[in-house]
Amino acid sequence: MNRGKPFYLHLFPAFVLMTLLVTTFLSVSTTRLYRKFYEKQTQQELLTKARMFAVSLANTDRTPKMVDDLANRMGKQTGTRFTVIDRAGVVLGDSDEDPARLDNHSDRPEIIEARQKEFGSSIRYSESINQTLMYVAVSIDSVIVRSAIPLTLYDQQLKEFLQGNTLAIVLGFITALLLSLILTWLFSRPIEDLKQRAKLLSEGKFTAPLIRSSITEIAALSDIMEYSSETLAKRFRSISRQKERLRGVLGGMVEGVIAFDQDEKVFLFNDAARKMLSIEKENPKGSQIQELIRNVPFQQTVTELVETGEDIHTIISVPTDNDPRILNMNCRILENSRSFLIVMHDITDLKRLENLRRDFAGNVSHELRTPLTSIKGFVETLVDGAINDPDDANHFLCIINRQVDRLNQLIEDLLTIARLEKEEETGAIDMECSAIRPICETAITSCRSRAEKKDIKILYRTDDDSLSGMVVPSLIEQALNNLIDNAIKYSNFGTVVAVETKIADSFLTISVSDEGPGIPRMHLPRLFERFYRVDKARSSSMGGTGLGLAIVKHIAGVHNGSVTVESVVGKGSTFTIHLPKIS
Ligand code: ADP
Repeated sequence: MNRGKPFYLHLFPAFVLMTLLVTTFLSVSTTRLYRKFYEKQTQQELLTKARMFAVSLANTDRTPKMVDDLANRMGKQTGTRFTVIDRAGVVLGDSDEDPARLDNHSDRPEIIEARQKEFGSSIRYSESINQTLMYVAVSIDSVIVRSAIPLTLYDQQLKEFLQGNTLAIVLGFITALLLSLILTWLFSRPIEDLKQRAKLLSEGKFTAPLIRSSITEIAALSDIMEYSSETLAKRFRSISRQKERLRGVLGGMVEGVIAFDQDEKVFLFNDAARKMLSIEKENPKGSQIQELIRNVPFQQTVTELVETGEDIHTIISVPTDNDPRILNMNCRILENSRSFLIVMHDITDLKRLENLRRDFAGNVSHELRTPLTSIKGFVETLVDGAINDPDDANHFLCIINRQVDRLNQLIEDLLTIARLEKEEETGAIDMECSAIRPICETAITSCRSRAEKKDIKILYRTDDDSLSGMVVPSLIEQALNNLIDNAIKYSNFGTVVAVETKIADSFLTISVSDEGPGIPRMHLPRLFERFYRVDKARSSSMGGTGLGLAIVKHIAGVHNGSVTVESVVGKGSTFTIHLPKIS
């Protein structure tokens, strides 16, 4: 940036130069005027003296002796040199010199001029007396009278005049300098103030004090700056507001948004994008996008976007500590390829749901096909003749009956889940404030006969007999049935199953513990998924549909609660339903 020189360095030398020029001009011109004035005055004086001399001469004999004497006398009296010259230029008398020694004076400029005009004059250096003289000659009758005085006095006076003049000029110069300094300061101060104000403006500080100046132009400039400052402040506020809104919108978006320029530097980024791409950097603005996001498919998409300059729609997978995150990327070109926008939707859940639905369809088909195949097989065997053997027929029909029960149970469970899912979604469920103990006891009673077959004791424990909750009793009973049934199913003979209710934090909990085989840790996260079984063969052989725990999960869900499991292999498992406590 060309900074130039400060204002006073421009103004001050100009003032100095101007003052110098003016004082020099004044000095020269006054000296010349003075000289002219002095010469004119001297000339007038000499002319008068010459005329007076002529008057005296008119009353004198014109003999050379008399003329010379008169010249000498008057010369002494007036301090003037008088010379009388005849028409031929011969010197008749001279107050300072012997006329006989003086040459013919007809060539002297004042003599030549006096012959033509009223009088003649000249300033010359006289070698005879070694001085500069002013000569004035007047032609009177037949002679020319010339008077002359040396200009020594003039030189002396000029010197004095010049001394006085120089002093005045120096004083004037100093005054002009001081004035120029004051003026420079007066001019430069408001300009400096304006500069400071402009600097503050550029830094976004719009509240700097107003600059007042008696100089019209600076006052006008200050007014303009004031106006600009207000306009800028308004625009600044409006831009800040817009930025704030944009930040709010971006921050509130579920979609991840990243924008970067043609140098691949990020200029827009929201929190959703940071989470989706697991970016740790606090403020990624200004970072190189390829360095910021170290995900190969993402980097390839960015490269393709920049190189082709065409919009891209793609799906990438971003590894995380758990399952990979699936991102749907919409990449757009902005401002004629000068910037780029990427909007990302996290479709991991969608994909998981899709997978679940696909798996579910596969599982349902499989679960339905298994009993159906079995039924079909036994029916065919019966048709092929086994029906004629009453024992076989009875045995096969019992199996067919069990498979039909299983099919029935499966369809029943599927319908229950579908109904619960709907109720969970709509919240359309009628809950009532019910005592918990009777619900637990009903569930225990309905499972007791199965427990007794395995010599399993079911205990009920509670801190508070009067515990009650906002529940649908039949659903809680069904959930408990499933949990107690599993506990009996998977536990060994002679063990204990405990049902316990208590208040923990803001929850009412109902847990079912057993002393069964326990469940390996790796299975716990998926245990409540539909058709998920730890030991598929064992579960099927026991008539399980693989939907029992999924139903429990949905029942807890419709009550705005949840279900958890704790299990130690070889020691047993505890399933707990957490329900919101009545406040
Ligand atoms: P299932 O009809 O197979 O019992 P569930 O959804 O009720 O289906 O249970 C899912 C799986 O969880 C079971 O197949 C079983 O492997 C495991 N499981 C459930 N409860 C227990 C338990 N109390 N002890 C050990 N394993 C259990």
